Amino acid sequence: MISVEEALERILRDISPLDVTQVPLPQSLGLVLAEDVVAQEDIPPFANSAMDGFALLSRDSQPRDGQPPRLRVTGGVAAGYVADHAVEEGTAMRIMTGAPVPPGADTVIQVELTRSTGPDSEWVEILETVERGNNIRPAGEDMRRGQTILLRGSEIGPWEIGVLATLGWAVVPVVRRPHVAIVSTGDEVVDVSEPLQPGKIRNSNGYLLEAAIRRAGAEPHRLGIALDTVESLREKFSQAIQYDLIITSGGVSVGDFDLVKNIMAEQGAINFWRINMRPGKPVAFGHIGSVPLLGLPGNPVSAAVTFELFARPVIRKMLGHTRLLRPQIDVVVEDGVSDRAMRRHYVRAKVQWRDGLFVARTTGNQGSHIMTSLLNANALVIVPEGGVEVHPGDTAKAIMLDWPEV
Ligand code: AMP
Ligand code: MG
Repeated sequence: MISVEEALERILRDISPLDVTQVPLPQSLGLVLAEDVVAQEDIPPFANSAMDGFALLSRDSQPRDGQPPRLRVTGGVAAGYVADHAVEEGTAMRIMTGAPVPPGADTVIQVELTRSTGPDSEWVEILETVERGNNIRPAGEDMRRGQTILLRGSEIGPWEIGVLATLGWAVVPVVRRPHVAIVSTGDEVVDVSEPLQPGKIRNSNGYLLEAAIRRAGAEPHRLGIALDTVESLREKFSQAIQYDLIITSGGVSVGDFDLVKNIMAEQGAINFWRINMRPGKPVAFGHIGSVPLLGLPGNPVSAAVTFELFARPVIRKMLGHTRLLRPQIDVVVEDGVSDRAMRRHYVRAKVQWRDGLFVARTTGNQGSHIMTSLLNANALVIVPEGGVEVHPGDTAKAIMLDWPEV
């Protein structure tokens, strides 16, 4: 039996980021940029007005004999158009936010600081002196042509998408999204839509894992349920090997019907199959052909917890992320954990910020078949190996499942 740390290290050592592909800009959300993004032009591409107002020469804004100067309005320029003539001494042009500053003008005064007879006024009075460059957003103020704006390896979020759109990247080079096969195992397992016959249970793992895989950023493919026979498992694995990763549930412990390990040994290699933890001791890692396989336990809570600890980092590494693991923080365990386990125990808990502290409350019965212990849990409190008891009010480490990876 190996430690959680050793298991994670052995798994991640074997996983590499997938290949690079080009995707349409909207589909790049959540993916990892595969190239540096260098601006091919200045942004903004031209000097433009930050206000609705008038473009003029700054020296024309000086009062004359204590009176506001009156300038002749020679036309206007709206956003999306360019002026067809220049601003000369003694004149001004109406200008809208985002419109290119007309030649000749070196400043813009906002409409509130002027007086005129309205939108068709042939003159404008300038009520305040304005400096050169006032309300003008210079070309290249945001990004300069040739400047590196985004580094490869960055995760693409809505704000990065905005920057990429600004720079004209209609398609984006990204690390490809992994496709993950899900195989549920067990003669007792039936699909969610089937009637429950005596002795049978519904396939919760297949659906839970599908959702968790999608949330981790990969594309899940539920291949259904394999019976506890070598033939049935072989048939499922022959489909599963076209994907980037295979995740199974059940069939990896020491029972007579726990055949996933056997097929791994037959068609690939077993790296390990037991981890010193609870829930989820029987976790197998290895390959079918060249496709990595994570064999998660059948018990639903074990499958859920081991997915978070091992499968999610695998998917993130395949996606090209460098931050793979959820943050750990110190929490005060309000109700304590009294059941002593020799294995490291990951206790589902709700962590909240209260009076300057992170306080954890465990979610009740922690049996690996108690699915409701997952509900309302946003953290895993770590109880160290060796039969440690956590008393109410003790401090422990917790993995924050709803905080971004660090
Ligand atoms: P196993 O690891 O195959 O020995 O399964 C351990 C426990 O998990 C058994 O009680 C199984 O019935 C249950 N189990 C296995 N697969 C599933 C599944 N897909 N959904 C829900 N429970 C399962
Ligand atoms: Mg089974």
